[in-house]
Amino acid sequence: MTHSETLFEQAQKYIPGGVNSPVRAFRGVGGTPIFFKHAEGAYLYDEDGKRYIDYIGSWGPMILGHSDKRIKDALHAQVDLGVGYGAPTSIETDMARKVCELVPSIDLVRMVNSGTEATMSAIRLARGFTGRDKIVKFEGCYHGHADSLLVKAGSGALTLGVPNSPGVPACLAELTLTLDFNDIEGVRKIFKEMGDEIAAIIVEPVAGNMNCIPPVPGFLEGLREVCDEYGSVLIFDEVMSGFRVSLGGAQGLYGVTPDLTALGKVIGGGLPVGAFGGKREIMEHIAPLGPVYQAGTLSGNPLAMSAGLATLNAISEPGFHDRLTEKTVALREGLKAAADAAGIPMAVQGAGAMFGFFFTEEASITSFDQVMACDVERFMKFFQGMLKEGIYLAPSAFEAGFTSAALSDQDIADTIAAASKVFATL
Ligand code: PMP
Repeated sequence: MTHSETLFEQAQKYIPGGVNSPVRAFRGVGGTPIFFKHAEGAYLYDEDGKRYIDYIGSWGPMILGHSDKRIKDALHAQVDLGVGYGAPTSIETDMARKVCELVPSIDLVRMVNSGTEATMSAIRLARGFTGRDKIVKFEGCYHGHADSLLVKAGSGALTLGVPNSPGVPACLAELTLTLDFNDIEGVRKIFKEMGDEIAAIIVEPVAGNMNCIPPVPGFLEGLREVCDEYGSVLIFDEVMSGFRVSLGGAQGLYGVTPDLTALGKVIGGGLPVGAFGGKREIMEHIAPLGPVYQAGTLSGNPLAMSAGLATLNAISEPGFHDRLTEKTVALREGLKAAADAAGIPMAVQGAGAMFGFFFTEEASITSFDQVMACDVERFMKFFQGMLKEGIYLAPSAFEAGFTSAALSDQDIADTIAAASKVFATL
């Protein structure tokens, strides 16, 4: 038995499923999850002493790689000053200023502790601001586990939402309308029917929770037009894409400006942080300025702000995202060439430092239905093969991959060589 297997057995005695977040349990790929002991740069080291090249990066935050000295120094300095006061600190203003500079659509920003809190609060704010209850989301987009957002469509173009999970009241889920990602005509149609009842559209501008699907040209632009026409709030959930697909996020990359933005992951440098912000006239409805309530005991925690601000400063260095995107494209192209050489049909796509690969005959994947038609069995075999080779990919066919600045050209070459080896066994 490996150390990881023993530790997993012990964990299951006290923690539901042995994990504190479901995807970590490896249910989507089989086998037992790997328990990690430490991480440095592009590498994770497990409890059995094996090294892995990491393409998860703690599910996004570790854009600099692990144990970056700048983050560690910032954290050590703050630990000596105190780990939290529940009162204002200057670093919160430094952080807010930095976020507003990097994301010009954000005039005011409120810190929270997770991506879930960020989207949940943005939705409440949009509803409070517009006085409307319905929201639109897209099938396959994940916005955290708040009640209104744990809803997906049935099979039609539009269904009144049915809850995705027991425990979500049907009367709340009904207010969430679920449409097809990348289908702007479906959006126009529903707005024609009930646009004046819709508070907001929430969208992952680069979908990263059904593998990785960039927006087709015109989709985000169309959402902007529809929201302008009907007075609805456009919310970009950039928890994943923010500071990752470009310094200014997906809105910077594609040039479409939302009213509100939800942030998470990179903004916390690995500590629990989220944020939501946007247009001043909307954000001024948040307490204590306005009537829409939102609060947090640990929000703006100085340790979390230190790690986050150090990360945002580091990624603001000129050329950071160009270099990281170049590496990511080299990885994508290398994987595709290796798959072609092995005769394995595969589509590879991405945006900035996010990527996805699909076992499919299709040249590209733009919709949820296409994702669902991919060969998941083959993904599972590929995942397990890569794990043996020391390459740590997301343990699910429905998650995006993340690169970090710590990856060397050699790491990428090693990853492609490992993939060639594994492709030959599929
Ligand atoms: N939105 C998106 C786009 C996400 O990818 C996630 C998490 N993967 C969330 C929201 C929720 O964030 P958290 O897990 O920090 O609550």
